[in-house]
Amino acid sequence: MAFPLAKVPPRGTGTPLVLLSIAGFDPSGGAGILADLKTFAALGSYGMACITAMTIQSTQGVRHVFGVDARIVRETLDCLATDASFACIKVGMLGSGEIAGVVLDWLNTKKEVPVVLDPVVKSSSGKDLQDSAGREMLATRWLGRAQWITPNFAELADLTGCGAVSGRTDVEAAATKLLQLATGQGNPGLKIVATGGEAEKPEDLLLTERELRWFTGERIVTTSTHGTGCAFSSALAARIAMGDPDSAAVQAAKDYVTGALRHAYPVGRGNGPLHHFWERPVR
Ligand code: PLP
Repeated sequence: MAFPLAKVPPRGTGTPLVLLSIAGFDPSGGAGILADLKTFAALGSYGMACITAMTIQSTQGVRHVFGVDARIVRETLDCLATDASFACIKVGMLGSGEIAGVVLDWLNTKKEVPVVLDPVVKSSSGKDLQDSAGREMLATRWLGRAQWITPNFAELADLTGCGAVSGRTDVEAAATKLLQLATGQGNPGLKIVATGGEAEKPEDLLLTERELRWFTGERIVTTSTHGTGCAFSSALAARIAMGDPDSAAVQAAKDYVTGALRHAYPVGRGNGPLHHFWERPVR
Protein backbone atom coordinates (compact mmCIF):
# COMPACT_ATOMS: atom_id res chain seq x y z
CA MET A 1 0.00 0.00 0.00
CA ALA A 2 1.50 3.40 -0.91
CA PHE A 3 0.57 6.59 0.92
CA PRO A 4 1.42 10.04 -0.46
CA LEU A 5 3.33 12.27 1.95
CA ALA A 6 1.48 15.35 3.11
CA LYS A 7 2.65 18.76 1.94
CA VAL A 8 4.27 20.81 4.70
CA PRO A 9 2.84 24.35 4.92
CA PRO A 10 5.32 27.18 5.44
CA ARG A 11 5.95 27.82 9.15
CA GLY A 12 3.76 30.50 10.68
CA THR A 13 1.54 30.93 7.63
CA GLY A 14 -1.38 29.16 6.03
CA THR A 15 -3.23 26.28 7.55
CA PRO A 16 -1.43 23.93 9.92
CA LEU A 17 -1.16 20.20 9.35
CA VAL A 18 -4.28 18.64 10.87
CA LEU A 19 -3.80 15.35 12.69
CA LEU A 20 -6.49 13.12 14.16
CA SER A 21 -6.16 11.01 17.30
CA ILE A 22 -8.64 8.15 17.74
CA ALA A 23 -8.00 7.00 21.31
CA GLY A 24 -9.19 6.73 24.89
CA PHE A 25 -9.71 9.61 27.35
CA ASP A 26 -7.44 9.73 30.40
CA PRO A 27 -8.74 12.46 32.75
CA SER A 28 -5.31 12.87 34.36
CA GLY A 29 -3.98 14.09 31.00
CA GLY A 30 -0.85 11.94 30.88
CA ALA A 31 -2.02 9.37 28.31
CA GLY A 32 -4.71 8.96 25.65
CA ILE A 33 -6.09 11.79 23.55
CA LEU A 34 -4.97 14.59 25.88
CA ALA A 35 -1.36 13.40 25.63
CA ASP A 36 -1.76 12.98 21.87
CA LEU A 37 -3.10 16.50 21.32
CA LYS A 38 -0.39 18.03 23.52
CA THR A 39 2.23 16.17 21.51
CA PHE A 40 0.73 17.28 18.18
CA ALA A 41 0.68 20.90 19.43
CA ALA A 42 4.24 20.70 20.73
CA LEU A 43 5.36 19.61 17.27
CA GLY A 44 3.48 22.39 15.51
CA SER A 45 0.38 20.56 14.23
CA TYR A 46 -3.32 21.02 14.94
CA GLY A 47 -5.00 18.05 16.63
CA MET A 48 -8.58 16.78 16.43
CA ALA A 49 -9.81 13.81 18.44
CA CYS A 50 -12.39 11.04 18.56
CA ILE A 51 -12.82 9.37 21.95
CA THR A 52 -13.23 5.58 21.87
CA ALA A 53 -13.44 4.95 25.62
CA MET A 54 -13.72 6.89 28.85
CA THR A 55 -11.36 5.78 31.57
CA ILE A 56 -11.43 6.68 35.24
CA GLN A 57 -7.81 7.00 36.25
CA SER A 58 -5.22 9.20 37.86
CA THR A 59 -1.44 9.05 37.91
CA GLN A 60 -1.96 6.26 40.45
CA GLY A 61 -3.55 3.84 37.97
CA VAL A 62 -6.65 2.97 35.94
CA ARG A 63 -9.81 2.23 37.98
CA HIS A 64 -12.48 1.70 35.31
CA VAL A 65 -12.94 1.64 31.56
CA PHE A 66 -16.22 2.42 29.76
CA GLY A 67 -16.53 2.08 25.99
CA VAL A 68 -18.15 4.96 24.10
CA ASP A 69 -21.26 4.02 22.08
CA ALA A 70 -20.10 2.85 18.63
CA ARG A 71 -22.63 5.20 16.95
CA ILE A 72 -21.03 8.21 18.65
CA VAL A 73 -17.60 7.11 17.41
CA ARG A 74 -18.77 6.67 13.81
CA GLU A 75 -20.71 9.96 13.77
CA THR A 76 -17.77 11.86 15.26
CA LEU A 77 -15.45 10.50 12.58
CA ASP A 78 -17.92 11.25 9.77
CA CYS A 79 -18.53 14.75 11.12
CA LEU A 80 -14.81 15.62 11.36
CA ALA A 81 -14.09 14.15 7.93
CA THR A 82 -16.67 16.38 6.23
CA ASP A 83 -14.80 19.38 7.63
CA ALA A 84 -11.07 18.64 7.60
CA SER A 85 -8.41 16.70 5.71
CA PHE A 86 -6.02 14.77 7.90
CA ALA A 87 -2.29 14.61 7.20
CA CYS A 88 -2.02 11.54 9.43
CA ILE A 89 -4.25 9.60 11.83
CA LYS A 90 -2.95 8.14 15.09
CA VAL A 91 -4.96 5.30 16.64
CA GLY A 92 -4.47 4.35 20.28
CA MET A 93 -6.75 2.57 22.76
CA LEU A 94 -9.79 1.09 20.99
CA GLY A 95 -11.17 -0.78 24.00
CA SER A 96 -13.34 -3.40 22.31
CA GLY A 97 -13.81 -5.47 19.19
CA GLU A 98 -16.95 -3.51 18.38
CA ILE A 99 -15.16 -0.13 18.39
CA ALA A 100 -12.11 -1.60 16.63
CA GLY A 101 -14.47 -2.78 13.84
CA VAL A 102 -16.28 0.54 13.50
CA VAL A 103 -13.03 2.53 13.38
CA LEU A 104 -11.46 0.13 10.87
CA ASP A 105 -14.51 0.32 8.58
CA TRP A 106 -14.28 4.12 8.67
CA LEU A 107 -10.51 4.13 8.05
CA ASN A 108 -11.09 1.92 5.02
CA THR A 109 -13.05 4.82 3.51
CA LYS A 110 -9.97 7.05 4.01
CA LYS A 111 -7.31 4.90 2.37
CA GLU A 112 -5.28 7.93 1.27
CA VAL A 113 -4.45 8.92 4.86
CA PRO A 114 -1.52 7.22 6.64
CA VAL A 115 -2.36 5.56 9.96
CA VAL A 116 -0.01 5.11 12.92
CA LEU A 117 -1.40 2.35 15.15
CA ASP A 118 -0.32 2.12 18.78
CA PRO A 119 -1.75 -1.34 19.61
CA VAL A 120 -2.63 -0.59 23.22
CA VAL A 121 -3.54 -3.71 25.20
CA LYS A 122 -2.92 -3.00 28.91
CA SER A 123 -2.02 -0.02 31.07
CA SER A 124 1.31 -0.16 32.86
CA SER A 125 -0.74 -0.48 36.07
CA GLY A 126 -2.06 -3.79 34.65
CA LYS A 127 -5.63 -2.88 33.63
CA ASP A 128 -6.97 -4.29 30.34
CA LEU A 129 -7.54 -1.46 27.86
CA GLN A 130 -8.67 -3.80 25.07
CA ASP A 131 -11.03 -6.79 25.20
CA SER A 132 -10.17 -10.16 23.63
CA ALA A 133 -12.21 -9.51 20.46
CA GLY A 134 -10.33 -6.22 19.99
CA ARG A 135 -6.96 -7.93 20.48
CA GLU A 136 -7.91 -10.56 17.94
CA MET A 137 -9.01 -7.91 15.46
CA LEU A 138 -5.74 -5.97 15.80
CA ALA A 139 -3.80 -9.11 14.86
CA THR A 140 -6.12 -10.37 12.11
CA ARG A 141 -7.45 -7.26 10.35
CA TRP A 142 -5.73 -4.07 11.44
CA LEU A 143 -2.27 -5.07 10.20
CA GLY A 144 -3.74 -4.78 6.72
CA ARG A 145 -4.63 -1.09 7.19
CA ALA A 146 -1.99 0.61 9.31
CA GLN A 147 1.00 2.20 7.59
CA TRP A 148 2.95 2.22 10.87
CA ILE A 149 2.60 0.19 14.08
CA THR A 150 4.38 0.97 17.36
CA PRO A 151 4.07 -2.01 19.75
CA ASN A 152 6.14 -2.21 22.91
CA PHE A 153 7.76 -5.59 23.44
CA ALA A 154 4.78 -6.97 25.43
CA GLU A 155 2.34 -5.84 22.72
CA LEU A 156 4.60 -7.35 20.05
CA ALA A 157 4.48 -10.69 21.89
CA ASP A 158 0.71 -10.43 22.24
CA LEU A 159 0.11 -9.63 18.55
CA THR A 160 2.35 -12.41 17.24
CA GLY A 161 1.73 -15.06 19.93
CA CYS A 162 5.52 -15.23 20.32
CA GLY A 163 5.50 -15.51 24.13
CA ALA A 164 7.84 -13.22 26.08
CA VAL A 165 9.97 -11.04 23.81
CA SER A 166 13.25 -9.58 25.07
CA GLY A 167 16.67 -9.02 23.53
CA ARG A 168 17.54 -8.21 19.92
CA THR A 169 17.15 -11.76 18.55
CA ASP A 170 13.63 -12.24 19.99
CA VAL A 171 12.48 -8.78 18.95
CA GLU A 172 13.75 -9.19 15.38
CA ALA A 173 12.08 -12.61 15.10
CA ALA A 174 8.74 -11.34 16.47
CA ALA A 175 8.82 -8.19 14.30
CA THR A 176 9.57 -10.34 11.23
CA LYS A 177 6.55 -12.49 12.12
CA LEU A 178 4.41 -9.36 12.46
CA LEU A 179 5.53 -8.20 9.01
CA GLN A 180 4.60 -11.63 7.60
CA LEU A 181 1.15 -11.35 9.21
CA ALA A 182 0.72 -7.90 7.61
CA THR A 183 1.84 -9.29 4.24
CA GLY A 184 -0.79 -12.03 4.63
CA GLN A 185 -3.33 -9.22 5.08
CA GLY A 186 -2.18 -7.56 1.84
CA ASN A 187 0.07 -4.95 3.48
CA PRO A 188 3.77 -5.85 2.99
CA GLY A 189 4.64 -2.14 3.36
CA LEU A 190 3.79 -2.04 7.09
CA LYS A 191 6.50 -0.20 9.05
CA ILE A 192 7.12 -1.56 12.53
CA VAL A 193 8.72 0.31 15.40
CA ALA A 194 9.09 -2.07 18.35
CA THR A 195 9.69 0.16 21.35
CA GLY A 196 11.90 -1.06 24.18
CA GLY A 197 11.88 1.99 26.42
CA GLU A 198 11.26 -0.08 29.54
CA ALA A 199 14.47 -2.11 29.15
CA GLU A 200 17.62 -1.35 31.17
CA LYS A 201 19.32 -0.45 27.88
CA PRO A 202 16.48 1.18 25.88
CA GLU A 203 16.54 0.19 22.22
CA ASP A 204 13.88 0.46 19.49
CA LEU A 205 13.76 -1.58 16.31
CA LEU A 206 12.57 -0.20 12.97
CA LEU A 207 11.64 -3.03 10.60
CA THR A 208 10.24 -2.41 7.13
CA GLU A 209 10.38 -4.27 3.81
CA ARG A 210 13.63 -2.41 3.09
CA GLU A 211 15.23 -1.68 6.43
CA LEU A 212 16.17 -3.25 9.75
CA ARG A 213 17.66 -0.68 12.07
CA TRP A 214 18.19 -0.40 15.83
CA PHE A 215 17.99 2.95 17.63
CA THR A 216 19.86 3.03 20.90
CA GLY A 217 18.50 5.41 23.50
CA GLU A 218 19.49 6.91 26.78
CA ARG A 219 17.97 5.57 30.00
CA ILE A 220 16.20 8.42 31.83
CA VAL A 221 15.61 7.53 35.48
CA THR A 222 12.17 8.92 36.36
CA THR A 223 8.79 7.74 37.64
CA SER A 224 7.07 10.15 35.21
CA THR A 225 6.53 7.60 32.46
CA HIS A 226 2.72 7.59 32.19
CA GLY A 227 1.70 7.87 28.54
CA THR A 228 5.17 7.39 27.04
CA GLY A 229 3.79 5.12 24.28
CA CYS A 230 1.03 7.62 23.45
CA ALA A 231 3.55 10.47 23.13
CA PHE A 232 5.90 8.38 20.98
CA SER A 233 3.25 7.27 18.47
CA SER A 234 1.79 10.80 18.28
CA ALA A 235 5.22 12.35 17.73
CA LEU A 236 5.87 9.78 15.01
CA ALA A 237 2.53 10.66 13.35
CA ALA A 238 3.43 14.37 13.46
CA ARG A 239 6.87 13.80 11.93
CA ILE A 240 5.48 11.52 9.20
CA ALA A 241 2.92 14.21 8.37
CA MET A 242 5.78 16.72 8.08
CA GLY A 243 7.37 14.50 5.44
CA ASP A 244 10.33 13.03 7.33
CA PRO A 245 11.92 9.92 5.83
CA ASP A 246 11.28 6.77 7.95
CA SER A 247 14.46 6.68 10.05
CA ALA A 248 14.43 10.42 10.58
CA ALA A 249 10.81 10.29 11.79
CA VAL A 250 11.63 7.53 14.29
CA GLN A 251 14.74 9.35 15.55
CA ALA A 252 12.83 12.64 15.90
CA ALA A 253 9.98 10.95 17.82
CA LYS A 254 12.51 9.25 20.07
CA ASP A 255 14.39 12.51 20.72
CA TYR A 256 11.11 14.26 21.54
CA VAL A 257 10.08 11.58 24.07
CA THR A 258 13.56 11.44 25.62
CA GLY A 259 13.46 15.20 26.20
CA ALA A 260 9.91 15.01 27.58
CA LEU A 261 11.00 12.30 30.04
CA ARG A 262 14.15 14.19 31.05
CA HIS A 263 12.16 17.38 31.74
CA ALA A 264 9.15 15.61 33.32
CA TYR A 265 7.72 17.45 36.31
CA PRO A 266 6.06 16.00 39.42
CA VAL A 267 2.26 15.86 38.95
CA GLY A 268 0.05 13.68 41.16
CA ARG A 269 1.14 11.00 43.59
CA GLY A 270 1.79 8.14 41.16
CA ASN A 271 3.53 7.76 37.82
CA GLY A 272 3.33 11.30 36.49
CA PRO A 273 3.12 12.59 32.92
CA LEU A 274 5.94 13.62 30.60
CA HIS A 275 6.58 17.32 29.97
CA HIS A 276 5.04 17.53 26.51
CA PHE A 277 6.10 21.14 26.00
CA TRP A 278 9.67 20.74 27.21
CA GLU A 279 11.10 22.48 24.15
CA ARG A 280 9.02 25.60 24.87
CA PRO A 281 8.49 25.54 28.65
CA VAL A 282 5.55 27.57 29.94
CA ARG A 283 4.81 28.29 33.59
N1 PLP B 1 -5.16 5.35 29.40
C1 PLP B 1 -5.31 5.52 28.10
C2 PLP B 1 -6.54 6.17 27.60
C3 PLP B 1 -4.30 5.07 27.24
O1 PLP B 1 -4.43 5.22 25.92
C4 PLP B 1 -3.13 4.47 27.78
C5 PLP B 1 -2.04 4.00 26.92
O2 PLP B 1 -2.07 4.02 25.72
C6 PLP B 1 -3.03 4.33 29.12
C7 PLP B 1 -4.05 4.77 29.91
C8 PLP B 1 -1.86 3.67 29.75
O3 PLP B 1 -0.78 4.50 29.83
P1 PLP B 1 0.44 3.99 30.67
O4 PLP B 1 0.54 2.53 30.45
O5 PLP B 1 1.60 4.72 30.06
O6 PLP B 1 0.19 4.34 32.08
